[in-house]
Amino acid sequence: MPENKKCAHPSCHCHARDGSDYCSTYCEGEAETADIVCNCGHPACGH
Ligand SMILES: [Zn+2]
Ligand SMILES: [Zn+2]
Repeated sequence: MPENKKCAHPSCHCHARDGSDYCSTYCEGEAETADIVCNCGHPACGH
């Protein structure tokens, strides 16, 4: 059972949701775009 698996988005610092490689639909859609900052909106990616 994976614990604290990181979101697969290259620039995201969040933990992935259960059953997903990403923390959010934003990251699922942007996963192929290596943005400098993540805009998923989670506190861990706040800036
Ligand atoms: Zn993020
Ligand atoms: Zn993410």
